[in-house]
Amino acid sequence: MHNDIEKILLSEQEIEAICKKIGSQITADYENKKPVLVGLLKGCIPFMSDLAKHINTHVEFAYMSVSSYHGGISSSGDVKIKLDLDISIKDRDVLIVEDIVDTGSTLSTITKMLKSRDAKSVKVVTLLDKPAGRVVEFYPDYIGKTIPKEFVVGYGLDYDEFYRNLPYVGVLKPSVYTK
Ligand code: 5GP
Ligand code: MG
Ligand code: MG
Repeated sequence: MHNDIEKILLSEQEIEAICKKIGSQITADYENKKPVLVGLLKGCIPFMSDLAKHINTHVEFAYMSVSSYHGGISSSGDVKIKLDLDISIKDRDVLIVEDIVDTGSTLSTITKMLKSRDAKSVKVVTLLDKPAGRVVEFYPDYIGKTIPKEFVVGYGLDYDEFYRNLPYVGVLKPSVYTK
């Protein structure tokens, strides 16, 4: 599996430093609050668990699964909910945890939707941001690292459902796509 990686964009050490840094920012920003971390499955899993270890306040875990259909060359941004939250977020401080923001359609839709459920606040933390891919205007509140417009895998991010278990984020060798 590691042989399929051309280059590493985010090492395990960098990921650890990001989780510590953002974790302490969130700890300060949510002092005396009990935020709900809403993870977007499945990509959020490694990042959410590592990040949460560095958040020193009471947090609740909740998950949603959404899919976005970017039809052909025009990003339609049609976002569908495959699995909804199992809790009410009315009057709660919600912090959405995402692996990567690309076009911005997923998160602009989901933040609007969660705000419309009368959450007290809705913010977004993403491990990676690809601002060059934006189609919809969207600014995450916390960003681990800004990367160029490249397709990345690992640490939650998949190619055809594989590579999520890599402990780092990297770029696949072109030969993998043509297999
Ligand atoms: P957006 O709605 O911002 O375009 O899409 C966000 C979703 O697209 C991410 O949650 C992720 O599932 C997928 N995605 C965007 N860029 C990449 C990438 O470079 N690698 C992988 N594996 N998924 C990506
Ligand atoms: Mg995702
Ligand atoms: Mg995917």
